[in-house]
Amino acid sequence: MSTHIHTEAFNPATGESLGQIPQNTLEDIQHAVSRIRKAQTKWADFSFSERGKHLRKMQRHLIEHGEEYARIISADNGKTLTDAYITEISSAVIAFDYYIKHSARVLRERRVKGSHIFSLFTRNRLQQVPMGVVGIISPWNYPLAIPMHEILMALMSGNGLLYKAASETQMVGQVIQKIVDAGELPQDLFVQVNVAGRIAGDAFLEAGIDKLFFTGSVPIGKILMKKAAETLTPISLELGGNDPMIVCAEANLKKAVNGAIWAGLSNSGQSCAGVERIYVHRDVYRPFLKLLKKKVERLRVGHPDHKDTHIGTMTTSRQHDAVRNMLEEAIAQGAIVEAISQIDETTDQALPATILTEVNQEMRVMKEETFGPVIGVMPFKNIEEAIQLANDSDLGLTASIWTKNHSLGRKIASQLEAGVVTINSHLISHAIPNLPWGGFKQSGVGRTHGELGLLEMTKARVIVNDYFPLNKQFYWTPPGFVYSRWVGFMMMVGGAWSWKLKGLLKLIFGFKKL
Ligand code: NAP
Repeated sequence: MSTHIHTEAFNPATGESLGQIPQNTLEDIQHAVSRIRKAQTKWADFSFSERGKHLRKMQRHLIEHGEEYARIISADNGKTLTDAYITEISSAVIAFDYYIKHSARVLRERRVKGSHIFSLFTRNRLQQVPMGVVGIISPWNYPLAIPMHEILMALMSGNGLLYKAASETQMVGQVIQKIVDAGELPQDLFVQVNVAGRIAGDAFLEAGIDKLFFTGSVPIGKILMKKAAETLTPISLELGGNDPMIVCAEANLKKAVNGAIWAGLSNSGQSCAGVERIYVHRDVYRPFLKLLKKKVERLRVGHPDHKDTHIGTMTTSRQHDAVRNMLEEAIAQGAIVEAISQIDETTDQALPATILTEVNQEMRVMKEETFGPVIGVMPFKNIEEAIQLANDSDLGLTASIWTKNHSLGRKIASQLEAGVVTINSHLISHAIPNLPWGGFKQSGVGRTHGELGLLEMTKARVIVNDYFPLNKQFYWTPPGFVYSRWVGFMMMVGGAWSWKLKGLLKLIFGFKKL
């Protein structure tokens, strides 16, 4: 059931209306959770291969309608069609294969051997039990790829789903509904609601979901964590980033420049793990800037439908204005516009790609997540300084190092405070579904994707069978007469040979005072 209130979807490039999506009420969310719970108890009994068959149908549908859906994403979000096809459609299609093939291996019930003579007579099993009803709230920047991973993980691990798409990309929410419908899942297993974000968190948690998977901004993540504490509902937070790129003296500069443009400027820089700050060794600072300037000045920003557009528009006017303010503030504080792309001024909400130099760590453009097509570049003297600059942030989602010396790259990577560090690339691992995704510091809590993501969709249950043949364990109350000797022996038998010997003596002669 829903009210007569609708959310109107707009094309950010033209302002044209794309359609109206009915809004749901708080009562709809309450009812949805009990309906999902009923469907989920049956779904949890499906084998992994049965669940996988439903997902295959979804995947087939997505492949068949890939181009059509990429067009909807492009119209709703403002990114180019190619961008939508590569980073959204193909990334989701690849994810299906991983979760269908590997969920059983990660989540199946397994025997766990005891680690010590103490558990000699127990047989232990570990089960990963579905959470139940998982709530997913996702943002507008990758409106298909981000929620699809979580939907797939939740379904393969036996959960039901309550899903909310970002208000700005409700048309993509409708696409997700079609993909899920194609899977012919049990009725009510997946329910999508359209409610304003400001009420969604409270509504989801108060309706009694068993886990919340949230992807969005740091401030909202903090609000949700506080709210979830009231019921101790488990929560995974995938939040913002302010990602550094370190270009070493011996880097392939052409590759580094191309990587910076792709990871920092595609999707109008609205990537949580996009390049936001570039630190370049002073020996190659000038040649790097020269190459970057040449490439950026050739980029065309504008209507995502136009054939010669490289970068589309910003998705929301709010984000457009926020980035412009940050840029103007940095310029007023002394930053220099080193390079600026071409721009189609007639396109709503388009922002030119801009490279800033003479920036410092105190400017908001370097200190905060910009989430737009603006990158600051600074030189560094040595690797220690580069690491210190890269780590100088409250956020730690991803980072990259550009060097031909891979062992140096790995050495630097181990010192960066980030959930993902890439050498000679950036942003790519979100599309490698078996790699966990998530950040250090305020970039998030928990992990999505891969084995760790699947585990986050479940809770662990341990089953311990005691096969001890006698009527009573030595240590049960009241303890038997050999109690202290046996415990003394057990504690020491796992250590060095001298300890084992001491343990044996305790077993034979007991403790002096016990
Ligand atoms: P946002 O304002 O936090 O919104 C994200 C989602 O949360 C939207 O669906 C929004 O709904 C909803 N929301 C807003 N207020 C809420 C509340 N009080 N309770 C529950 N849900 C609420 O973030 P954004 O500006 O749209 O997205 C950009 C941010 O997401 C950036 O910081 C970016 O780095 C981060 N992000 C992180 C990752 C990652 O993997 N770590 C991936 C993508 C994006 P409405 O649209 O209805 O307001």
